[in-house]
Parts: sequence; C-alpha cells; structure tokens
Amino acid sequence: MITPFQIVRAWCGWVAAEVRQRGVVAVQAIGVALLLSLVSVSCQTTPRASKAAAGVEPDVRVRIVREAPSVRIAGPAQVAVRPIGSFGEWVGTTPVDVRAEAGVLVAKDAAGVERRFDQGAPIEVRAVVPARTARTAGSRQPPEPDLLVDNRAFPGSLEVHPRTDAGEGAIDIINVTTIETYLPGVLTGELLDNWPLDAYRAQAVAARSYALHERARARLRGRAFDLENTARNQVFAGRTQHEAAVRAARDTRGEALTVGGDVLRAYYSSTCGGRPMGAGSIWPTGAGWEFNGAPPLQVDAPRATFCESSQAYRWQVTRTVDDVSKRIAAYGAANGLSIKALANVRSIVPVEVNPAGRPVQFTIADDKGKTYKLNAEHLRQALNHPAEGLPAPERAAQVRSGDVEFEMRAREIVIRGRGWGHGVGACQFCMNGMARRHWDYARMLAHFYPGARLDRLY
Ligand SMILES: [Zn+2]
Repeated sequence: MITPFQIVRAWCGWVAAEVRQRGVVAVQAIGVALLLSLVSVSCQTTPRASKAAAGVEPDVRVRIVREAPSVRIAGPAQVAVRPIGSFGEWVGTTPVDVRAEAGVLVAKDAAGVERRFDQGAPIEVRAVVPARTARTAGSRQPPEPDLLVDNRAFPGSLEVHPRTDAGEGAIDIINVTTIETYLPGVLTGELLDNWPLDAYRAQAVAARSYALHERARARLRGRAFDLENTARNQVFAGRTQHEAAVRAARDTRGEALTVGGDVLRAYYSSTCGGRPMGAGSIWPTGAGWEFNGAPPLQVDAPRATFCESSQAYRWQVTRTVDDVSKRIAAYGAANGLSIKALANVRSIVPVEVNPAGRPVQFTIADDKGKTYKLNAEHLRQALNHPAEGLPAPERAAQVRSGDVEFEMRAREIVIRGRGWGHGVGACQFCMNGMARRHWDYARMLAHFYPGARLDRLY
C-alpha cells in the first residue's frame, strides 16, 4: 500500500524534477517555500506526513506514444526543444518532426533545419508563447498553447525518450501536465459522451485516486513516466472541451479515496455484469503489492447492480478448440507457467467461485489427461493472447471478462460471459445507471469502495 511517506517522497521527487527541468531560480524559491511550509516534512529524511502535506496539485507524466519510429509535433508556430537537464534550447518552426538515429534524437523543423541532440538524453518540447500574446494577457502568465502530437492536442509539455531497448530508432513520447488538466481527457476516454454528470464525478474521483497511486509507485521505482494512456492504466484522450468531463474534474478537484490515510488504488472496470470481484482474489497481495489487500477493494458478494444497459452485460463468443488451446499455451510460455505444455483442451471448469458467484479459479484439462489451474484474470488474458499464426483476436471476438462458462463441442468451444473487465472496484456502466437513478457520486463511491474515505488532498 502506498503510505503517506511514499506520497511525500514522490511529491518531493516532483519538486526536484521541476527544479531540474526548469532550472529556474524562481522555481527553486517556490520549491523551498513549499518545503518550508510542510511542517516536519523533509525530502532527505523520513517524513511524517499527513494527507494535507501533499497540499499542492501534483504533475503527471503520461506516455502517449510508445516505441514509434518518429513523431510530428505542431500546434504553436514555434516550439522550444532542449535536452532534459540542460539550459541551451533550440527553437524550431512547426511542424517539427523528431526521430532517433542510433539513440540520438534528431529534430527537423518546417524549414528543413535539423538539430541533433548528441548527449543521448531525452529532450523536452515546449510551446513558444509569442511575446505579443504575453503583453495582451496583462499581468497574468498566458496559458501555454496545446501541443499537437499526430494531430491530437495535449496540454503542458512533451518529453521524447529514445528507446534503444525497443529497437533501432524507437521513441516514446511522454506528456507532462498537471493532474487536474489530465483528468478531463481521462473521463472522455473512459466514459460515454451522454452519461450524467454524477457518473463523470464518480469516475473523476476514482481516476484521480488511481493516478495518484500509480504515480507514487512509478516514482519510487524511478520509471520515466507515471501512466500509460491506454486501458493498461487509464485511457487518456488528450485535451478535451467536453462539458461534463471538464466540470466533473473541477467539481471534485483534489478529492481522492483513502483508507487508513493512504490513497486507495481505486480500480474500476467497464461492466461488472452483476458479480464483483475482490482484488485480493485475483491479484498478488504480498510484498510490494499490499495495496491489493485494502479492505475497500475486497467486495466479492452480491451488490445492487445497474449495468444491464451495457452491451457486455452478457455476451458470447465461439472459438475453435485449436484457437483456445494454442492461445492458453502461448500465454503460459510468455509468462513461464507450466500450462505452456497444454495440449488440446478437453474442459475448462471453475473450481472456486466467490460469494457473488463469480469464478475465481479454473481447472483446464487437456486430451493428454493433464490438468492445470489458472485464475480468472489470467484465463481472460490467456484467451486473448496472440499465438503463432494467431494474432490477438478482434475486439468483437475477445473474451471480455473472467466471469465465463464454457460449452465444449466437437471442435468448438462456446464461451458465455458476464461483464467487461476485472470487476474490481467501481463499474462504469453501473455508475451510469446509478446517476440516472439520481445517486450522487459520493453515494456511488461508498457503494463501490465500502470503508474508503472521500478526502480532499489539495
Ligand atoms: Zn456493474
């Protein structure tokens, strides 16, 4: 579980990063002032922190492009580019294309001017704000214009990281912004357009809590980014003007779920299908994973359900025996599991179900008489895993949850399922149903995460 100490350490990391990245005396002064204002908190020694010690809206680093050969950056007329940690900067006219050659980043502007960043360090790209705009905006600093990455708008700045480990010329793009600026783009990425405001508010609090938790983990591990912009963490669509998304983030500013003073890793998924899952039943809870044992994440008994409108409430796909057998074996091989030796599947039956009736563990038997065990989440992933000659299944053919039953036919397996996703924590389609029945977001969050507190962290 992430402790307040860890949160403050991660926060301290942010201040240090700001100082490092901006290299501006004013920022250092602000950083020192903030540190002094945090009574008994020090970044060098073990801090005693309260939730209020975070106090300041954190930044967030979201990976928006992974292992691409190049990227085109546009938006403002000019962008400033510099290696992270250095002062000298190069100003290019947009669009600016960035690529990597043998680990060296090369930027080329609209006039064809190239600049090589030989230091091998990642580079930072910022919008250049025209002086005229700055004057007309009065005494307040004008907002930085959004940067366009492959025609999608992102607030804040970008970092380009060469990924020599991912092949010659691969680069990652990381969007650095503040968490409240980031959240509306998560809400539009995660929810449907026409859902009620309180569904957006509930999602805002869950997404903020999850992001703060994952951010703290990433910084303790020294990772270059905090979150992926995909369902692996949470979908992030970049800048949005969606009214409910912008308003829900603003209405719940700084609010997060906590348990025992720690930020809750507020898992959520699309459709619970009526049978929730406890995190500790399907994910590790040992050293480094204690947060999965948090009591508010262990709901595994029947609860009021409102997600019947989801297309994934009930679903069915049919696969060949060969397809299922090969995918499970390939998943086993990719994860070092004994099930990599699986022959042709004969049966897949649940051997453990939770009090809500949702399968926790399955036994898989093959035609050589061997049996293997796989938990429900692993089975879901295995059934969607690519195998030799079998790419990952199309969206419509995917196995959407681990709440499944199998009907064996001669050469086919009919898979009938409930819901979409892991079923831990909040259910997005239930949020929609609840909001339409006039539940407010605090009531929804108490329903999904019983025992968690709704706290304002900044
Ligand atoms: Zn549901």
